[in-house]
Amino acid sequence: MDELKKRILKDGRVLSEHVLKVDSFLNHQIDADLMDRIGNAFFDHFHDYGITKVLTIEASGIAVAFSTARCFHVPVVFARKTPSLTSVDETYCAEVFSFTKKVQFSITVNRRFLAPEDRVLLVDDFLAQGQALLGLINIVHQSGAAVAGAGIAIEKAFQNGGRLVREVGIEVYSLARIASLIDGKVLFL
Ligand code: 5GP
Repeated sequence: MDELKKRILKDGRVLSEHVLKVDSFLNHQIDADLMDRIGNAFFDHFHDYGITKVLTIEASGIAVAFSTARCFHVPVVFARKTPSLTSVDETYCAEVFSFTKKVQFSITVNRRFLAPEDRVLLVDDFLAQGQALLGLINIVHQSGAAVAGAGIAIEKAFQNGGRLVREVGIEVYSLARIASLIDGKVLFL
């Protein structure tokens, strides 16, 4: 998606060879019009996949997942990183290791919001080492629903996640694929 790539070049900040900050438009301050167009791009790609639900992880995936769900006219569900007041029996749970933050955390989704007949589109702002997506895939499998695919705004293709997720048979559609962040510069594939 050209618009997203141009925006990354204009407003993205390379923090290191591994981390790109896009907090002025994607995941802290959010450009709502850009989110709409990202949602549309995922809709254009996945519109005939029979999607019944969009699933993401709080907090940074919610904006892009929300815009996507509006295009499909289906609910958006976000996995929680902090336990809610419901009992553990009511939730699907998976462990996720964050390489960016160097912490392991649990994600949970209430069982009422995923059903075996669902076809779920996973959406996230970034794909890096793939642990967040693999956690979501685990949760969808526990529910008996099907993963229809994954829509990613920014894939850091020099990290492992894209390969790991594609290897488990999930189609990953990324709008901007970054080849490297060397010398403070963003290079796209
Ligand atoms: P993964 O589980 O694929 O390693 O990482 C996915 C999550 O980590 C994303 O949801 C995103 O919040 C965060 N993340 C990974 N790499 C970056 C990055 O370079 N910049 C930002 N802003 N977030 C990142």
